[in-house]
Amino acid sequence: MSDTRELLDFIRQIVADDRAAGKTGGRVHTRFPPEPNGYLHIGHAKSICLNFGVAQQFGGLCNLRFDDTNPVTEDMEYVESIKKDVRWLGFDWDDREFYASDYFERLYEFAEHLIRTGHAYVDSLTPDEIREHRGTLTEAGRESPFRNRTPEESLDLFRRMRAGEFPDGAHVLRAKIDMASPNIYMRDPTLYRIRKASHYRRGDAWCIYPMYDYAHPLSDAIEGITHSLCTLEFEDHRPLYDWLVRHAPVPSEPRQIEFARLNISYTVMSKRKLLELVTGGFVNGWDDPRMPTLSGMRRRGYTPEAIRDFAERIGVAKRENLVDVALLEHAVREHLNKVAPRVMAVLKPVKLVLENYRDGQVEDMDVVNNPEDPSAGTRKVPFSRELYIEADDFMEDPPKKFFRLAPGREVRLRNAYFVTCTGVVKDPATGAVTELRCTYDPATRGGNAPDGRKVKATLHWVSAAHALDAEVRLYDRLFTSENPGAGDRDFKDEINPASLEMVAGCKAEPSLAGAAAGNRYQFERLGYFCVDPDSSGGRLVFNKTVGLRDTWAKVKDKA
Ligand code: ATP
Ligand code: MG
Repeated sequence: MSDTRELLDFIRQIVADDRAAGKTGGRVHTRFPPEPNGYLHIGHAKSICLNFGVAQQFGGLCNLRFDDTNPVTEDMEYVESIKKDVRWLGFDWDDREFYASDYFERLYEFAEHLIRTGHAYVDSLTPDEIREHRGTLTEAGRESPFRNRTPEESLDLFRRMRAGEFPDGAHVLRAKIDMASPNIYMRDPTLYRIRKASHYRRGDAWCIYPMYDYAHPLSDAIEGITHSLCTLEFEDHRPLYDWLVRHAPVPSEPRQIEFARLNISYTVMSKRKLLELVTGGFVNGWDDPRMPTLSGMRRRGYTPEAIRDFAERIGVAKRENLVDVALLEHAVREHLNKVAPRVMAVLKPVKLVLENYRDGQVEDMDVVNNPEDPSAGTRKVPFSRELYIEADDFMEDPPKKFFRLAPGREVRLRNAYFVTCTGVVKDPATGAVTELRCTYDPATRGGNAPDGRKVKATLHWVSAAHALDAEVRLYDRLFTSENPGAGDRDFKDEINPASLEMVAGCKAEPSLAGAAAGNRYQFERLGYFCVDPDSSGGRLVFNKTVGLRDTWAKVKDKA
């Protein structure tokens, strides 16, 4: 391992060092611990890639553990979506699917142990009083008058809390640590609270629920986790993590290591905010292709390979930063460039008629499926007298820098012929261009002129008689500001009103007939597109995944 040391991020270095020092017998065991109260997002992907990646790299294991200790927000729908997303990302937890809610009995026993050993007590202050006693960053807390209850008395009350004798808020169980600690999390933190609510897995079996800060370290210890990787906001909780692992009779002593969470520009990443976008109808569900959720990205056409590559590029560090969303798009584009077959589709069509092409004639043009991947082979694309091209690719009165089709000008139709525009047909009422008249040069079949003459533009096209109708959904960033909701702004005020454009009446080449949902393509000259699950029975719907132009290189140069 020594020769690869400098290639290790700081977490992998710690793990390598612990392993070399024989800690935990050289074992490496991590976990990915989502709370099933929302869908996974790209930030979670960073954590998944890290936890599963570290385990893989060191020949260890990674558990999937649902940290489901809060009865009011959790749901089976989220559990199912999380499992699907982790698998889709390419990771496997084998049979190690665990639930903190399955540990409620053991966690309860640990709590009784802490009470008996004088490390926890039942406090009967009101929630407001507890808050007042906690002190501030600059001021020590004050001890509760109930702090010196005997273990017997606390045990009796704790059992009666569990038995449902008291209403919500009447008592809590607290760790007995130090009300004067400079670390607020060590000022006798609450371990259990009364919450008369049904749990999505445990039903009404419990009316006291462990706090996250209590359940998490002890669940790690129960599972024999060696390295518990979490985001930076838990750094101040680490003394409590260690204290609990030391004082509860647990079978192992995991080590918590914190890393910076992923933040991406023009994106929100808190589950609370994402839930608000869904319930407020700002997007069409958790898997809306504009969402930073893994299900949204999947629907958008992002590949798991690209997301894993992105996670590797951003790396793992100890300092918070804002990653440019262009880097994620760059990773997606780079992967799709390798794997996505090329096809032709016209989003905003105008008809083009070849006056010198025999009516009824059809030629099957041989077209390469992916120049980046010779094994992808070729296909036949029909060419005929009436075609569609992009309305944007023609201008009647072009400015200097417009090199595409214009009256009298010759351009190449990709994989087909050179054509020259000879006339324009307009709607007499509106003046809109309804048809372009052209001639083609039969000597240029395949797209090259034997006399070596050049054209300045190559256009994509679709044969009108063979075209499939399609709908295309174009996306822009969901937010107009780089850091939505920063300061005290409401992130919802910064939603981009033009983040979705639905384009109907698109025309696609016939090879796309029956394309399955999830299939990804490069539409020549337009970008990458993915078949949406809304497609069915002849209806074809595409999501634009990402454009062809890479803005990442520009961003990098600026930096
Ligand atoms: P949120 O703040 O959005 O509610 P969370 O951290 O509460 O997210 P969890 O379900 O608890 O969501 O997260 C599971 C794991 O994923 C945790 O270990 C958490 O640290 C990690 N994680 C969550 N968000 C990010 C992020 N943006 N970057 C890296 N890791 C993250
Ligand atoms: Mg959390």
